[in-house]
Amino acid sequence: MHKHHSARELASPQVGSAIGIVLSSRPVQPVTLIRPHAAARAARFFVEKFPGRSMYAVKANPSPDLLRVLWQSGITHYDVASITEVRLVASTLPGATLCFMHPVKAPEAIAEAYFTHGVRVFSLDSMEELTKIMAATQDATDLTLCVRLRVSSEHSKLSLASKFGAAPGETRELLLAARQAADALGICFHVGSQAMTPEAYAQAMERVRAAIVDAGVTVDVVDVGGGFPSSYPGMEPPPLERYFATIHRAFESLPISYSAELWAEPGRALCAEYSSIIVRVERRRGDELYINDGAYGALFDAAHIGWRFPVTLLREPDSNARDMAFSFYGPTCDDMDHMAGPFMLPADIQAGDYIEIGMLGAYGSAMRTAFNGFGSDETVIVDDEPMVSLYVEEERVAVPSNVVTL
Ligand SMILES: *Cc1c(COP(=O)(O)O)cnc(C)c1O
Repeated sequence: MHKHHSARELASPQVGSAIGIVLSSRPVQPVTLIRPHAAARAARFFVEKFPGRSMYAVKANPSPDLLRVLWQSGITHYDVASITEVRLVASTLPGATLCFMHPVKAPEAIAEAYFTHGVRVFSLDSMEELTKIMAATQDATDLTLCVRLRVSSEHSKLSLASKFGAAPGETRELLLAARQAADALGICFHVGSQAMTPEAYAQAMERVRAAIVDAGVTVDVVDVGGGFPSSYPGMEPPPLERYFATIHRAFESLPISYSAELWAEPGRALCAEYSSIIVRVERRRGDELYINDGAYGALFDAAHIGWRFPVTLLREPDSNARDMAFSFYGPTCDDMDHMAGPFMLPADIQAGDYIEIGMLGAYGSAMRTAFNGFGSDETVIVDDEPMVSLYVEEERVAVPSNVVTL
């Protein structure tokens, strides 16, 4: 077992397993486990099977170690949303292509991205943003401008439908103006995060078709955004190949030229399996477990939107008690630090036991704080398998027989 306390040490190739860490060091603080092999596998899957270009949505997990793993696995393009993300990726991966896909940007951020970091791809959903981009880049003639359409989030667990995106009545004027200003014109959308059916993309592509027909413009890029799901308890999606097939079919039938490109911006799907945490039970009160990480740590989504994550007891010998449903309290002093779950764990679990909470690589590590003095930077590379994987063949056996595997 090897502990690493800084990002620099993380560059070393030493590895372990979740249970090995518990048995050898009985950690007092929560420990973040990272699985570079799982992120590499996800990246290779998208690079090989998505019928277009996959760019990583950095906000899902901006860890430089992860960025390097994705780069080494063939991800060359990165969807960035803030100037801090632009600087981070530019300095971590000097060869990467950055696409600034936030539809509302600061003028200073656009200017720095364009003039200092060579960013040429920008998204927008309003005439004001188009004017802003042209002014900040001093009327650049080498831009790829992606007009973001508003699409439904009805098939997704997390909506992105209200805040951004041009509504049907606004897209014609915007597409025509962007066409005038751009070297290449794109159309993009986001169906919401954790889209549970490929149908979400099919419906959004119909919006793209209507917008293209209505404006009568030539489109060079269709970007289907993020939303590709991972697997969580109670949220097991169909195989990703079905999403890819649906998107490919819809793309092929759009009124666009043969040279048009298809892009996607997966965040969650590339990094969910990358990390998990080991927590310790500090107290049990009936079916409530007080653990040493929570809403202000890696479990924001578990607390605030009731997301369920896979859990496993790390004890040897293993418990043979039957599983029962638990909820979690995090370590801080307020009632909000509560994760309803239910989390299924052996009925004899008690204070001093350790639990691994899986699938926290996306939006888990990224949202941690040090509120109330809790949390930990202790990170260990492990080479055991993530608790759940969309990318391991054996997992496919669990797909119900009414789901067609392509
Ligand atoms: C958050 C975000 C993504 C990534 O979404 P996932 O659901 O994590 O795949 C992609 N594109 C944009 C514009 C985003 O805001």
